[in-house]
Amino acid sequence: MKIAEMEAHFHELAAVENQIADALRDRRFADVFSASLNSLPHIVPAIKYRKKRDIQPETPTLLSLRAICRYGPPLFEHAVLQQLLDFVTSTRMLARHEKGYTQKVEAAIAREEAARLLWNQLQSNPGFLQRDIRKSLGVDQDAAVEVVEVWEELSIVMRVQEANSYLVYFQSHLDEHVYGTCQNCGVRGKTRKHVLFKPIKCPKCEHEDYFHISCS
Ligand SMILES: [Zn+2]
Repeated sequence: MKIAEMEAHFHELAAVENQIADALRDRRFADVFSASLNSLPHIVPAIKYRKKRDIQPETPTLLSLRAICRYGPPLFEHAVLQQLLDFVTSTRMLARHEKGYTQKVEAAIAREEAARLLWNQLQSNPGFLQRDIRKSLGVDQDAAVEVVEVWEELSIVMRVQEANSYLVYFQSHLDEHVYGTCQNCGVRGKTRKHVLFKPIKCPKCEHEDYFHISCS
């Protein structure tokens, strides 16, 4: 490949990475994934150009790889993860790279499997304790926590502090309006469920404790 062509890929990669960054900022994840996949053909010629021109670091931080590995698993983008894995393993410059690209993508695919188990767990057992994930699901704890953190960032789940860990709930469950009753004076009011997961000060008697939750 001529150096002018490499240079064109180098600039094209920078332009597509700007699109990825914009889409990440606006949380347009369909655009994040499509721009990330579009960036892949530019990566190798861009790295070759950097070598020729002695641009440091020789291998740049690949935003597409970071974006897909972080958001692909919790959003169940299996086809995107698989395309990234195929690309990395079939690209000599990346497959055995010291930065461990192959391992990073494989770990992301394993994280997607953990996300699937976590999702089922959230449906069948809302309010499970985060620190028990490994014990109850047999998945890697750090991988599972990363998934939960992205879900929280995207307002899919909410975490409530409990016993030096967190109870994890789907946000939608917590946004439901329910009734709470003061255990001290019996005053009753309607509020969002998550408000009642910690002690609150009764507006009438000022006693501070958990309210009883009821749906009607
Ligand atoms: Zn009260």
